[in-house]
Amino acid sequence: MSLLPLHLLGSPALRQHSAEVKSIDDEIRRLVGDLFETMDAAKGVGLAANQVGITRRVAVVDAEGDRFAMIDPVIVETEGRATAEEGCLSIPDIYGDVTRPERVVMEALDVDGVRYRKEATGLKARAIQHELDHLDGILFLDHLSLLKRQMLLSRWRREHKDDAGYTKEVQAASARSE
Ligand SMILES: [Zn+2]
Repeated sequence: MSLLPLHLLGSPALRQHSAEVKSIDDEIRRLVGDLFETMDAAKGVGLAANQVGITRRVAVVDAEGDRFAMIDPVIVETEGRATAEEGCLSIPDIYGDVTRPERVVMEALDVDGVRYRKEATGLKARAIQHELDHLDGILFLDHLSLLKRQMLLSRWRREHKDDAGYTKEVQAASARSE
């Protein structure tokens, strides 16, 4: 397994609709292992494949003591509404309050190609929805009001105007973010 560079806001991969995996091979299993390792090093609660530049429908979550890979995930049920602050490993140091369904039921394939179903609430439900959004090219910023989004984006552009590219190497001990 290896640590993969994170794609930051501005990377075209973050805005792409990722392709279905359908059949799981060693390459996908290696990707899942790398996603877990990179998420852990970056101290995140979730990571989607396009955040490391691979536009396939694969993501990992580690929230509330539950750690799982989602391949070709779909949300089959939602209930309620909840608002909480979100951040993103691809948009470091930027946070905003996002309203989403409070409870979800998600179906996905695991690394053995077995379809499973997971019910989640709280942070786990939020992480699942945040990662599924990534697979459709959606960022948490898109859920904010236009005014709030423009404010955060102009701050981002100010702070990142001298960046040479849109990827960031993950160190073994960096700051915690979602
Ligand atoms: Zn994210």
